[in-house]
Amino acid sequence: MAKIFCIANQKGGVGKTTTAVNLAAGLARVDQRVLLVDLDPQGNATMGSGVDKRTLPLSVYDVLLESASVAEARARSELGGYDVLGANRELAGAEVELVDLERRDQRLKGALAAADADYDFVLIDCPPSLSMLTLNGLVSAHGVIVPMQCEYFALEGLTDLVNTIKQVHANLNADLKIIGLLRVMYDPRITLQSQVSEQLKQHFADKVFNSVIPRNVRLAEAPSYGQPGVVFDPASRGAQAYIEFAREMVARIATM
Ligand code: ADP
Ligand code: MG
Repeated sequence: MAKIFCIANQKGGVGKTTTAVNLAAGLARVDQRVLLVDLDPQGNATMGSGVDKRTLPLSVYDVLLESASVAEARARSELGGYDVLGANRELAGAEVELVDLERRDQRLKGALAAADADYDFVLIDCPPSLSMLTLNGLVSAHGVIVPMQCEYFALEGLTDLVNTIKQVHANLNADLKIIGLLRVMYDPRITLQSQVSEQLKQHFADKVFNSVIPRNVRLAEAPSYGQPGVVFDPASRGAQAYIEFAREMVARIATM
């Protein structure tokens, strides 16, 4: 059975897509079968996987509107070694089109159930909002991975996400929980960051992943080559950290 995780944080630019793409590639390197679902109309996870969003015959949009199955709409990241349910600007319209449809928050869940046997991991890259798209992700998932920078206001920004997760847990998906907070773009030389990191560990204990993703320019460069950082420069510190995180996730699902 596939374990399904949302990569979510309602802030933009916090490393969601970088985490989704590199965790997918890291998991593929340790022989896991992975589907990456791009739920952001910007399509960054799609492009960052080397799949051209402009020429997708079918995308997650068609899956949400139930005009295609996951098996029909998925593409392959040849370099990354995983499948991609891609997104492009068409997806921005889904929000409006779903409003009048029944089971509008259950569409992705139903579609993923039909592809369950094909994967060990399904990773869902969520947009920076708590929209109907994100709701489809949260309803589908076993857990949420929250990438965050160790900044002063990082925790405050989590309140809305935590409340949404509680509501989804209570009303729509009793499986849902926060799997963990992932410290990203981390620079231990910045005193504030190491202080916030310590506070996170004190406050959230085992909800903070052991793996820490450093700020690393190779991770930022990789998308412009249409590659996950893990593939673009596997020896870089950023890539190594995501491979380590992939191993941590494999160990984590063994206990779920
Ligand atoms: P989000 O999906 O949350 O909007 P992104 O993953 O797109 O965030 O990251 C925002 C920006 O930060 C991108 O330019 C990305 O390349 C860069 N970035 C993300 N993680 C790192 C990192 N660990 N080191 C350096 N740059 C990073
Ligand atoms: Mg993103």
